[in-house]
Amino acid sequence: MTPVESAVRYVLLAAAACFVFGLHLMNSPRSARRGNALSAGAMAVAVVATAVLLLDRGSVTGTGWLVLVLGGAFGSGCGLYAARSVEMTAMPQLVSLFNAVGGGAAVLIPLQDLLGSPHPAALGARVTVPGALDVVIGTVTFAGSLVAAGKLQGTVPGRPLVFPGARALAVLLPPAFVAGTVWLVLTPDQTAAPLVLLALALVFGVAMVLPIGGADMPVVISLLNAFTGTAVAMAGFVLSEPALIVAGALVGASGTILTKLMADAMNRSVAAVMVGGFGTDGGGAATDAGGGAASVRPLSADDVAIQLAYARKVIVVPGYGLAAARAQHELGDLVQLLEAHGVEVSYAVHPVAGRMPGHMNVLLAEADVPYPQLKEMDEVNPEFPQADVALVVGANDVTNPAARRPGTPVSGMPILDVDRARSVVVIKRSMGHGYAGIDNELYTDPRTGMFFADAKQGLIELRAAVRAFVG
Ligand code: NDP
Repeated sequence: MTPVESAVRYVLLAAAACFVFGLHLMNSPRSARRGNALSAGAMAVAVVATAVLLLDRGSVTGTGWLVLVLGGAFGSGCGLYAARSVEMTAMPQLVSLFNAVGGGAAVLIPLQDLLGSPHPAALGARVTVPGALDVVIGTVTFAGSLVAAGKLQGTVPGRPLVFPGARALAVLLPPAFVAGTVWLVLTPDQTAAPLVLLALALVFGVAMVLPIGGADMPVVISLLNAFTGTAVAMAGFVLSEPALIVAGALVGASGTILTKLMADAMNRSVAAVMVGGFGTDGGGAATDAGGGAASVRPLSADDVAIQLAYARKVIVVPGYGLAAARAQHELGDLVQLLEAHGVEVSYAVHPVAGRMPGHMNVLLAEADVPYPQLKEMDEVNPEFPQADVALVVGANDVTNPAARRPGTPVSGMPILDVDRARSVVVIKRSMGHGYAGIDNELYTDPRTGMFFADAKQGLIELRAAVRAFVG
C-alpha cells in the first residue's frame, strides 16, 4: 500500500466515525442540524479522499475524470436544488426518489465487476455473493421507490393495486433470487445470471409496492431506505471499502429500526403494511353510547377565541391537516398571541402525527416554535386533565378514543389523551375521516366543539377573534 493509499484509508475511517457520531447527534432536534452537517461534511471529505486515491493510482483516464467531475457536479446540483425547494408536504416523495437513486447507484457497482471483469472466472464468492445480493436488493429498492414516489405524487393511483398473479410472484421470486445467486457463484464467467437477477428484481420491486395503499407509503419508504443502506453495504463488500460498508450498515440498521417504530406507533406489523389494503373497511356513521346517530357541536371563531382567552393552560395537538394546509406559521402566531396574554401553551406531538416520522417537529421548528414547548406523547398525556382547552388542528386518528377498546382499525394504537382535557376544540374542514378511514368518537363527546375550517384560514380567523377579544 502506498503512503497516499494508507493516508486515504485513515481519512475514510475517520469519515465513517463521523457518520456514526452524526447519526447520534440526530437523536435530538437541538443537535440534529449539527449531526446532518457533520455527516454531509464527512461524506464530502470521503469523496475528495477517493478522488485523491484515484489520482495516485492513475487508473482514471481524461474522459473518465470529465465524467466523474460533471456527474458529481450535476448530481450535487440536482440534490441541493431538490432538497432546498421541496415543500414539506412533498418530502416523502423526495425521500423516495433519493432512495431510488441510492439503490440504483449501488447496483451499478457490482454490475461493473460482474459484467466487466477481465478475468470473470477468477471472481470468488467474496465478490459474487455480495454482488448478487446488491443487484437484487438495490434493484428492488430502485423499482419499488419509483412506484412509491409515483403513488405519493399522484402519478400512480394511490389505492392498493392488486393485479392477478401478484401473490404468486411474491411467493416465487424470492426462491428464484436464491437460485440465481447460486448460479452466479458456481459459474461467475457468464453474464446471464446478473442480468436475470436484475430483471426479476425489477418485477419484484414493482409488484411489491403496487398493492400497498398510498397512505402506507411512509412505512414502505422507510423500509426501502433500509434496503438502500443494505445494498450500499453490499457494494462496500464488493469493493472491499470499509467506509461504504459502515455508511450502508448505518442506513440499513437505522432504517430498519425506524420502520419498526413507525409500525409499532400505528399498532400494525410491518408484514401487515406490506400485505396492503389498510383503511378500506371499518368506517361508518358516528354513534353514541346507545347506538343512535350522535351529534356534534359546531363552534364559531368567536366561540373558540373566548375559550382560549379565558384558559390558563392550552395544549395544541397538530396533525396531518396542519401540514396539508401549511398552517404552521399561523399556528405559531396564534400561540404567541395567547402566550402574550398569559396563557400557558404547549404542543403535544404524536410519533406518527402527519405522514412521515418527525413531520410535526420539522414543521413546528420551521415556525420557530421553541423545542421545550414540544412535548412527546408520554410526557404530555398526564397533563391533559389539567388543560382547560385541548386545541386539535387537523389531527384525527392520533386522538381517537376508539383506540382504547378492541375491534377497530386503530385498536391498541397509542393515542394522545385529548378527551381527558376539560374542553376540546377541533379545527378541521368537515367530519371527514383520517388515514385509518374511521369515525372519531372524540367529535361526538359532549366536551368537544368543532370549528369547521381549513386549518390555515381557521387559524387566521381565530387569531383575529382572539386579538379582538383580548384587545
Ligand atoms: P389523520 O390522517 O388521522 O387526519 C387528518 C385530518 O386532517 C383529516 O381527518 C382531515 O379532515 C384533516 N385535514 C386535512 N386537510 C385539512 C386542512 N387543509 N385543514 C384542516 N384539516 C384538514 O392525521 P393524524 O395526524 O391524526 O394521524 C396520522 C395518521 O397517519 C395516523 O393514522 C398514522 O398512523 C398515519 N401514518 C403516519 C405516519 C407517520 O410516520 N407520521 C406514517 C404512515 C401513516 P377533513 O378532511 O375533515 O378536513
